Amino acid sequence: MPANILLVEDEPAIQELIAVNLEHAGHHVIRAKDAEGALGVVRSALPDLLLIDWMLPGISGLALARQLRQEERTRQIPIILLTARATEADKVAGLEAGADDYVTKPFSPRELLARIKAVLRRRAPQMTDDPVELAGLRLDPETHRVFGAQRALDLGPTEFRLLHFFMTHAERVHSRAQLLDQVWGDHVFVEERTVDVHIRRLRKSLEPSGHDRLIETVRGAGYRLTASPA
Ligand code: CA
Repeated sequence: MPANILLVEDEPAIQELIAVNLEHAGHHVIRAKDAEGALGVVRSALPDLLLIDWMLPGISGLALARQLRQEERTRQIPIILLTARATEADKVAGLEAGADDYVTKPFSPRELLARIKAVLRRRAPQMTDDPVELAGLRLDPETHRVFGAQRALDLGPTEFRLLHFFMTHAERVHSRAQLLDQVWGDHVFVEERTVDVHIRRLRKSLEPSGHDRLIETVRGAGYRLTASPA
């Protein structure tokens, strides 16, 4: 389950240590040394998860977490706070700011990786390798296969990721910009028209089992995958 992780840590030695461990576990790490740097990264592409040190120069990690939670576009990104603080009041403050979890320094790389995995499983099921099933459609991320009514369906890599996201976020309407952020990880350099092209291909791939009907166009809003199409 490799993820794009934005690590916000001002101490170079700790930043290096954490980054090396995450990369060793297969994750892709983007580094920032303060909140401004992190916001700059997030503006161009959304990471799958943020690891934020509480004690940052300038805007604190806590304030950064709060700010990300307030903005529509970044509200859903999983956040783990790293900190030397450990009092009950601090934990409450961290969770109230919108952090999903809290790791107290010093921590072992194994503990950090386990927390990351748990948070992704809870908050970003499209990042995990768990098979998903909906209305006779089954997608297995581990083997990269899709079955519709027991029949193997042939999907391109982008269509596969798109379907995985839809199946783990079914019944909700997603705008083109949201899909670009969530599936392409980029809403700036990829045109919204690209989404329509891949939706068309995805529907075509799902046609043999009739599951193309599950993907609905919601006029003026975007797309939705539903178990009970109109
Ligand atoms: Ca620090």
